[in-house]
Amino acid sequence: MKLYFGVDIGGTQTKTALVSEQGEILDKRSFATAAERGLDDFSRRVRAELDLAVRAAGVDPADVQAVGVGVPGFLDVEQGVLVEAVNLGWVNLPLVRVLADATGRPVAMENDANVAALGEAWIGAGRGAKSVLCATVGTGVGGGIVIGGRLYRGVNGMAGEIGHLTVRREGGHRCNCGKLGCLETEASASAIIREARRLQAEGKLPQDGPIDGAEDVFALWRAGHAAAAGVVREAARWLGYGLALCAITLNPDAIVIGGGVSKAGEAWLALVREAFVEYALPLVVEAARFQLAELGNDAGVIGAARLAAHHVESL
Ligand SMILES: [Zn+2]
Repeated sequence: MKLYFGVDIGGTQTKTALVSEQGEILDKRSFATAAERGLDDFSRRVRAELDLAVRAAGVDPADVQAVGVGVPGFLDVEQGVLVEAVNLGWVNLPLVRVLADATGRPVAMENDANVAALGEAWIGAGRGAKSVLCATVGTGVGGGIVIGGRLYRGVNGMAGEIGHLTVRREGGHRCNCGKLGCLETEASASAIIREARRLQAEGKLPQDGPIDGAEDVFALWRAGHAAAAGVVREAARWLGYGLALCAITLNPDAIVIGGGVSKAGEAWLALVREAFVEYALPLVVEAARFQLAELGNDAGVIGAARLAAHHVESL
């Protein structure tokens, strides 16, 4: 039996899973990332989780072929170096070498949006499709492209960074990347919260509670508040527009949308699709099934395990 250990590093929690060749999760757990304790400490804890998982699943440790890691940051995959992960406060770390030493296994890494895309394309909403465009819409907007079951990385891993497509040239907001009007600043949960708070301050949204998350705005939308509906619709339209630009370039047969905002469900997806249809070419629209992600929080660990399998094949 060939098994792979998927690791999905998050700003607060790190998720791990022991995954079979078929994508079945044999064991799943999570721990506090505590990035401030450093990479060596983190790697030792990953090893401990791997050992626990092997014991809990009752499998032979020798069956675990490799470790795949999804990282929220910019990476130099060829050198195995994490260049910068702002949320972790990690800069220029030899992540692959340190994790390989700690786990005693080959290690492959990718950014978190790419591993989620790989997971969804493998056994999630994109399964069976030849080319899959995945968007992860949460605090930011990430993306990943999977062609023929393989991640398409581009020359230095920047392929699919759709969050930084400039979609709004006038009236756009400042992005962390330094530009104005990125897809991420107009379509993400942060965008929805920002706009809702602005309307609340202007007295156009009910004051019966603070806007803590995008879900508060979605709740107001469902309750029939017109201003909240406007905010949701506007953000969904920017996303649909950005996806149309990508789809015309890629002509994929599946477009999969996940991340926290996608929990708003089919009614929100319909708004996104409306704009997508408006801006994409009819034959592009016809070719692409357009759907919500299916793996939820497991997409990262499953995709990381798949990445590990591809890595072993390439050795
Ligand atoms: Zn940007």
